[in-house]
Amino acid sequence: MSELHLNLIAGQWVGAEDTSENRNPSDPSDLIGVYASGGADDVARAAAAAAAAQSPWFEGGPQPRADLLDRIASMIEARAQEIGTMLAREEGKILPEALAETRRAAQIFRFYAGEALRVAGEALPSVRPQVDIEILRAPLGVVGLITPWNFPIAIPAWKIAPALAYGNAVVFKPADLTPGTAHLLAQIIHQAGCPAGVFNLVMGSGARVGAALVADPQISGISFTGSVPTGRGIARAAAETMKKVQLEMGGKNPMVVLDDADLPLAVAACLNGAFFSTGQRCTASSRLIVQAGIHDAFVAELSRQMQALRVGPALAEGSQIGPVVSAAQLQGNLRYVALARDEGCTVIGGDALGGTGYFQSPALFLGADPAMRVAQEEIFGPCAAVIKVDDFDQALTVANDSAFGLSAGICTGSLRHARAFKHGVKAGMVMVNLPTAGVDYHVPFGGTKGSSHGAREQGRHAVEFYTTVKTSYSYAG
Ligand code: NAD
Repeated sequence: MSELHLNLIAGQWVGAEDTSENRNPSDPSDLIGVYASGGADDVARAAAAAAAAQSPWFEGGPQPRADLLDRIASMIEARAQEIGTMLAREEGKILPEALAETRRAAQIFRFYAGEALRVAGEALPSVRPQVDIEILRAPLGVVGLITPWNFPIAIPAWKIAPALAYGNAVVFKPADLTPGTAHLLAQIIHQAGCPAGVFNLVMGSGARVGAALVADPQISGISFTGSVPTGRGIARAAAETMKKVQLEMGGKNPMVVLDDADLPLAVAACLNGAFFSTGQRCTASSRLIVQAGIHDAFVAELSRQMQALRVGPALAEGSQIGPVVSAAQLQGNLRYVALARDEGCTVIGGDALGGTGYFQSPALFLGADPAMRVAQEEIFGPCAAVIKVDDFDQALTVANDSAFGLSAGICTGSLRHARAFKHGVKAGMVMVNLPTAGVDYHVPFGGTKGSSHGAREQGRHAVEFYTTVKTSYSYAG
């Protein structure tokens, strides 16, 4: 029996009523570890501990918060190989991507170490004589952080770091599929000297731990990243206790390739955007909208390079695409491949590859129509629909024909088209001659329409969610 990995509540490592096994999608016979799986009682104790710890944490001023975040960043860097290996083993991301994500998490903690010292207010004269007005930022209080499996350290980092920097206390619920990376991060936060109760880890299912977080009256805000149906349910449930919510959800991100694009650059951007990280990125390019004049050459070269990608175990040297995260996700992807054929697409790739794990060859759905389900629904796997268009105007219309609006890209040599796309596309992030996935950590991240709800994440904009505004009036007498 492998060692049980415990939850962290009120500064103590504690067990829970249940446990869950963490298995390797590159080889499910590899049991990574057994993890505590909590319930509503654990959430209530964690929220109470957080509520008691939050005020002293904030009142202690920004220096201890900055110092803690800086230490966490250094400790992540020092243990990057161990964390990256765990991430690759439990999520299936190839090791170079897992190491890059781990280093990104350290950068995020270091960025918010600085931000803790830069919380600005405003001072205005009152309309009444001798009265001064200050607009101050105060922490929300206790925040519940709910994260998905596909970026198991970067997304927790970009929620935990600003939450702590601005003086909140945290109850963190990681995805059930990736507790290992979350547990290593919690160990680091604890060992870095985070005061008891300021940061709590409660692992477990969404139905039990996630729902209890959303219902708990001691929690003032929920920052969630995950799928649209879960996000919608959280927004509804959070209204009962009037919580502030921040929801980052799915995408069906368009990448437009115009006739005047640099072909090798466009193919490289689409190969990366559609298939790297096994297509399991909310910002993945899952709709390739290609102008007629470049279409055939683009499809020929992208198919060639896609079919040459080496799919294999996440930790094996030379693998370029790791496994799909779980058996259920693989079955879902394969159903979409079959649907693409049923809807009339020509499918290249997309087969289950067998072997030790949940391996699937990347897929292109050629001849897709914008109205098809495979061109509208988020698949969240290594599959991209290719839609042929006549001109820029049609490309923009098709790009905007989506319930989502997270990231959008265009490959073009025309400044006029690039500018018109940047202004016309309905998305939170726009890329010109760059993949739709791959963002910086010091600027806002988020989308429009069904992709996001509430304040933006990351960069200085994170202050909007993790603080509330207090307006103070003073009369000097
Ligand atoms: P998911 O919605 O199934 O789960 C996300 C988290 O919510 C998990 O921790 C889960 O346990 C929890 N959860 C489930 N039911 C819950 C409930 N009733 N109450 C509270 N919490 C609950 O999503 P997933 O499969 O882990 O992740 C994939 C999805 O995440 C995709 O749709 C992807 O696009 C999206 N995603 C979005 C972004 C973004 O920033 N926009 C980033 C990464 C992933």
